[in-house]
Amino acid sequence: MEKEFSSLDNVEVDYYRLLVEQVKEYAIFLITPDGFVASWNTGAERITGYSCEEILGKHVSILNEPTESLTERTRQELETAYSRGRYEDYGWRMRKDGTRFWANEILTPLYSKSQEFIGFSKVIRDLTERKRAEESLLRSREEFRTLANSLPHVVWTADSNGFVTYWNQSFYKYTGLTESEIHNITVPDTVHPDDVSKLRGLWREAVNTGSEFEAEFRLKNRSGEYRWHVGRAVPLKNSRGQVLKWIGASFDIHERKLSAEKKDEFIGIAGHELRTPLTSIKAYAQLIERSLDKNDIATAKEFVRKAYTFIDKLNNLIAELLDISRIQRGTLPLELRTISIDDLVKECVESYQLTTKTHRIVVEGRARAMVRCDRPRLEQVITNYLSNAVKYSPEKDIVYVRLERKDKYVRVSVKDEGIGIPKDQLKSVFNKFYRAENMNSSIHGLGLGLYISAEIIRLHGGMVGVMSEEGKGSEFWFILPVYMQGSDSAGGQKPSSFQG
Ligand code: ADP
Repeated sequence: MEKEFSSLDNVEVDYYRLLVEQVKEYAIFLITPDGFVASWNTGAERITGYSCEEILGKHVSILNEPTESLTERTRQELETAYSRGRYEDYGWRMRKDGTRFWANEILTPLYSKSQEFIGFSKVIRDLTERKRAEESLLRSREEFRTLANSLPHVVWTADSNGFVTYWNQSFYKYTGLTESEIHNITVPDTVHPDDVSKLRGLWREAVNTGSEFEAEFRLKNRSGEYRWHVGRAVPLKNSRGQVLKWIGASFDIHERKLSAEKKDEFIGIAGHELRTPLTSIKAYAQLIERSLDKNDIATAKEFVRKAYTFIDKLNNLIAELLDISRIQRGTLPLELRTISIDDLVKECVESYQLTTKTHRIVVEGRARAMVRCDRPRLEQVITNYLSNAVKYSPEKDIVYVRLERKDKYVRVSVKDEGIGIPKDQLKSVFNKFYRAENMNSSIHGLGLGLYISAEIIRLHGGMVGVMSEEGKGSEFWFILPVYMQGSDSAGGQKPSSFQG
């Protein structure tokens, strides 16, 4: 396969020729000082597709891609190899059939025993597979980053020692940190100080055992607020089970966590709230029994009346719980009728006034309008506002109810001079289970009444709201669409332009 390489006459070539000829993995061949192929081994034939006969005497630039300035580039390579004693390069080369292969080439000048320069040896390795694998790795890394960056969740990777090597954009967006501020860490500085040691412990354990990681912790956002997150990470292992890296993600569970906490708190409160009237009912039952034993019917009747008020309380609490479950299932039915809002408010106030001796309820203004509403449900809202006004103004004795007509809406408000609500909690009072933090624990409630009221008004196409100042009092209001023009006598109504 090898042709005489003219200047190698005196070199003992036989062993080397045999050795080189057998090599299949590498193309090993000789080129003349000006770049013509002078020998060709099995590997060269296998890698390039040229047979020995085809290529001997051809210029080595035949292997270059056609786009390149062929001979010029080869000339430069040969010159560099000659002047530096070695030239190594990576690049795409062409096979005989026109396909490309990724080559690692080493070019070395050759000298005869008498130090005469006689040409070059060239060794080529076909690294196409490795190149493709690298490219595909790069592509999948890019794909991973694009995917990770498109997610609203925080995504990260860590090395086998547990040091974070990558955060996605969501992390930087959430924390407001920059890439240069954070790398090679196990737990970011933005984790709440109270959660750091627990988090670090769980992470160390996962890294040491190679088992999946999961933890809940608070993470500071760019405006300095700590929000609850849940983080999970899975190890990526090789075939021998060794951890190569970790892929992790965490997402915001703040609302869920708070609502779960509120729910737990609520169960405690609900139990307590239900037991309070029951205890009173039981006590009155004992008193009734004793009075009856003494044949004191008048006193027994008095205790029965008192017991009734606690039975009503219990009934209301249970009704609230049932309403919540109906709202949750979206099955709070309304039976709509056309009703004078003025009459309804008046009657509601009168009947509520009968149950309270501590406060005087004053009704002001008139709406002179008919609304489409479920009467018991609307009474429930007004009564809830009234009972809150009384309950949260224990030191005061007056509550104002105001009726107004505002364009196509009626506005009903209940105003007290009580404890009021701190500004930062105003937006939460209509939330489920919410109880403001400024009141003393002797004021009972489940934190459900306003939530139910808001739902009822919403189902009627209206809106609720509150204005309050801590220590000065609160005004809770709702508006409802006017269905018909009302009159002073509540008779002879004309439909208004709004059809709610
Ligand atoms: P609760 O059964 O606790 O009274 P509500 O849903 O009716 O439940 O009210 C939610 C919370 O809003 C109350 O716990 C209280 O903190 C606050 N709140 C409601 N009405 C008033 C008011 N008139 N004055 C002050 N705070 C009020």
